[in-house]
Amino acid sequence: MDKDLNYLRIKKINNYSDNSQGEYVFYWVISGLRIEDNFSLKLAIEKANQFKKPLLVFFGLRDGYYWSNWRHYHFLKEGLFEFLENLKKLNIAFIVKKATDDEILSYAKKAVAVISDEVYLNGAKKRQESLANKIEVSMYLVENNSYYPVNIVLNKKANFAWQIRDNIFKFLDLIKKDFFLEKVQVNSLNFFQNFEKEDIEKEFNNLNLDKKIYFKKFIGGESKALEILNEFIEKKLPYYSKFRSNPEKDFTSNLSPYLHFGNISPVKIVKEVLKKHSLKDENVYSFFNELLVWRELSFNFVYFDKNYYNFKSIPFWAKKTLDDHKSDKRDYLYSFDDLEQGKTHDCYWNACQKEMVYFGKMANYMRMYWAKKVIEWTEDWQKAYDWLVKINNKYELDGRDPNSYLGVSWCFGNFDRPWFERKIIGKVRYMSANGLENKFDIKKYVEKINKELDLRTKDLFHRQNLQRE
Ligand SMILES: Cc1cc2nc3c(=O)[nH]c(=O)nc-3n(C[C@H](O)[C@H](O)[C@H](O)COP(=O)(O)OP(=O)(O)OC[C@H]3O[C@@H](n4cnc5c(N)ncnc54)[C@H](O)[C@@H]3O)c2cc1C
Repeated sequence: MDKDLNYLRIKKINNYSDNSQGEYVFYWVISGLRIEDNFSLKLAIEKANQFKKPLLVFFGLRDGYYWSNWRHYHFLKEGLFEFLENLKKLNIAFIVKKATDDEILSYAKKAVAVISDEVYLNGAKKRQESLANKIEVSMYLVENNSYYPVNIVLNKKANFAWQIRDNIFKFLDLIKKDFFLEKVQVNSLNFFQNFEKEDIEKEFNNLNLDKKIYFKKFIGGESKALEILNEFIEKKLPYYSKFRSNPEKDFTSNLSPYLHFGNISPVKIVKEVLKKHSLKDENVYSFFNELLVWRELSFNFVYFDKNYYNFKSIPFWAKKTLDDHKSDKRDYLYSFDDLEQGKTHDCYWNACQKEMVYFGKMANYMRMYWAKKVIEWTEDWQKAYDWLVKINNKYELDGRDPNSYLGVSWCFGNFDRPWFERKIIGKVRYMSANGLENKFDIKKYVEKINKELDLRTKDLFHRQNLQRE
């Protein structure tokens, strides 16, 4: 096996050669809003230096994405601001624009080569492929946001996490390399319109976004991601395996939004963790089991299963058992609106729904309980599937991610095995309120959420009063 597998991230996806007559190298950034361990940026700089041309980094803004709202876009914008400043320090021009496909193509037309981050979800992939088909210079896609290039660990669809676990841990060192960016030889800041934060702000003002969903607990950007990572390594990681599931404590990393928006690479996380801790430490193993095994499994899932977003993705036994119990009497039935507003009989469920709706990130363990209960409380499990995807992606700051689809699908039996048969949920793994009570001080979790909500309401009221004064 080669000593450094990172070169396998890069795929040339058309037959055109690099155009030495091109004006610049064009990095169409999608999910690499960071400097460190940004493998697309590294390739783009190397190409620019090879041809002694300037490098243009470009981010195309669009509205009208499914479920997107101000919460997501605000986090994105914070990441873009920081990326702009960091690229400036490297003498690299960055443009952020609400752009049509034709505008992106017109930039690509004048390029030596086009480099972009590989995307995996159907809509984004379709768009990237359709643009790539019209680009008449060399185009490279870089797998920039997974730890491994997706089909290195397993070159087919995995059905269980254990199928990839050994390889994930075996090849860790073949990715975990020091990361260096060459200095750009041609300063591109002079070649393009000087783009500032205010210009990004203007572009965002042109978007037609749902502003009702706006609050978020986290600030986007690479430096925030690193700060959160360092704090996690220092204070929480030593207790991770003991407390990670516990919803009333906050002992997980909270890195999922940063991973989703590409503000940090899993490669960086692994390197930083292993600088201070050993893989033999059970906490590190447990954390990597989530960050690497389950997260990489989600890339495998969306890559190989084009039905990842709907009920067709679940295994035959799960579909059969849910169908067998289709007519079972439901003790509770809720409408989409009841669920969205957190108006059920179950105070634990309502609390986690509100945590997601008002703060943008539900505690890890509660996500499983949350989805399982909706299956029981909806007249039709297929409808429950759609509703869960919709609510998750609308409110979670880390939503619309491969992990979102894996998480929902897992709750319907995917990557799991059959359990004891029960009403409604059949042989799909069951979770109960009693289970929460036995495992955790779950009432404390409800109190915590209610208290935070109270503070948030008071804060909003205070701010409105200030505005009025
Ligand atoms: C119904 C349901 C919906 C979910 N929706 C999402 C979603 O929209 N976006 C999302 O990123 N995750 C989702 N998850 C997975 C998981 O709950 C979150 O990744 C985790 O809670 C994020 O918090 P953290 O970063 O503090 O996690 P940590 O415990 O610190 O874990 C570190 C990283 O590992 C990855 N990870 C952790 N748990 C899982 C998991 N079960 N599956 C895959 N990767 C995991 C995440 O990237 C996470 O940031 C969902 C799970 C379920 C059951």
